[in-house]
Amino acid sequence: MGQNKKTAITPTRMEDYPEWYQQVVKASDMAENSPVRGCMVIKPWGYALWERMVAVLDGMFKKTGVKNAYFPLFIPLSFLEKEAEHVEGFAKECAVVTHHRLEAGPNGGLVPAGPLAEPLIVRPTSETIIGDSFSRWVTSYRDLPLLINQWANVVRWEMRTRTFLRTSEFLWQEGHTAHATAEEAVERTRTMLDIYADFVENWLAVPVIRGVKTASERFPGAVETFCIEAMMQDRKALQAGTSHFLGQNFAKASDIRFQGSDGVESFAWTTSWGASTRMIGGLIMTHGDDDGVIMPPKVAPAHVVLLPVFPKNADPEAILAYTRETADLLRLENYGGRSLEVEIDSRDMPGRNWDWIKKGVPLRLEMGPRDMAEDAVFMFRRDTGERCAVKRVDLARVVAETLDAIQKNLYDRALAFQKTHTCNMDDKAVFYDFFTAKNPEKPEIHGGFAMAHWCGDAACEEAIKKDLAVTIRCIPLDAPEEEGSCIFCGEKSMGRVVFSKSY
Ligand code: AMP
Ligand code: ZN
Repeated sequence: MGQNKKTAITPTRMEDYPEWYQQVVKASDMAENSPVRGCMVIKPWGYALWERMVAVLDGMFKKTGVKNAYFPLFIPLSFLEKEAEHVEGFAKECAVVTHHRLEAGPNGGLVPAGPLAEPLIVRPTSETIIGDSFSRWVTSYRDLPLLINQWANVVRWEMRTRTFLRTSEFLWQEGHTAHATAEEAVERTRTMLDIYADFVENWLAVPVIRGVKTASERFPGAVETFCIEAMMQDRKALQAGTSHFLGQNFAKASDIRFQGSDGVESFAWTTSWGASTRMIGGLIMTHGDDDGVIMPPKVAPAHVVLLPVFPKNADPEAILAYTRETADLLRLENYGGRSLEVEIDSRDMPGRNWDWIKKGVPLRLEMGPRDMAEDAVFMFRRDTGERCAVKRVDLARVVAETLDAIQKNLYDRALAFQKTHTCNMDDKAVFYDFFTAKNPEKPEIHGGFAMAHWCGDAACEEAIKKDLAVTIRCIPLDAPEEEGSCIFCGEKSMGRVVFSKSY
């Protein structure tokens, strides 16, 4: 990034990261705010990305035996109330339907009428309504494991919303499984966590840390919550997916019982796991630069955009024909499990290239009479800005290789960033400085992931949260066992946890 280089996005990441994010979303034409507070409109470019993500994740789930189904949007209040911790956790975010029709009001408008006998909750998550079905679907050990997923929208009445990252209505998948043993349910919880990590790292090119949540950050009603955490370019953490071991809590609440092979009846062991449109925000915040989005090739809605150039006195028809021919040639090529997705933009207008830069298409290919004379095109890489002429005989191969290189480069540079800003910390003063000291060159950016010892006491966790707005993102799964003393109270600890500010 040059000092005074003109950027497509104002402000830059350094100037104002949150505003940069909103401007990138807008400039990429992925989504817009809606008249309904906290709810977004996902536009075609953003939705095409979501469809790619859905297709890949859905395939990964199904490979492990999961089947899709669909359950009601509305949950009777009495269902939600069955699990005490669960309803308490979600109560503050519930949209409640209390009436079933409208009638003429006193002042000419319409007013709700026909009160419902029992209020309905717009699902914030579906453990209880799916549990109701499970209680009927499961009677014997032969019905287990039951492996169900639903693709749906959910509503959580969030106070502070931000496009993709935290919206009141969001799209997601929620998996729900029931098992005969605790071991099997835990294994499923871990398998799904690994699938999320695999997807986010290898398809979205976003490196993550796998871990377990502390009790205070646990899903309401869960025994254990596993998560993947990614580092954004402002060094804050984003929870990108969660997988919960629910023990028998929800099976007891929903009465999911089965008869074992020995004839003895027991409650099932259940899990749930979800990932949402938040991942799109994570992708933008991980890879985006001061010119906009950069799409990882494996999920990019388009891999390549062809940009015919029309100089004066040239024959536009010949150039267009050359462009279409080039598109056909590329579409024969496979990439990331589908054929190469090619767009042609033949609008003859200023700012055309910038539109595609801001949208983050991995490769742009320009072609005009001079390229035609060489039977070549001119290729531009979105991630590095590199450019070169490519002969058309080599084009399909070069494009596929370059897309691989981009995918790898995005991951490598995100991982390098994460590593640079992850530090072991053993001194309380240093720890506090890390999250409060202002860097004069980058006043709005400091901190990152602090790997520090924690005694396991919620009081220490709470005190740090109060002082610094920093939370324990997770207890990493792959951290070596290491003795030390709690960064806050100095008491004995069994290992390091990830402290960070977060979204
Ligand atoms: P949970 O059911 O709370 O474990 O959440 C499941 C997934 O949905 C997690 O990966 C969260 O990151 C994501 N998520 C939670 N709340 C929101 C929200 N308001 N907007 C978008 N994604 C969310
Ligand atoms: Zn402590």
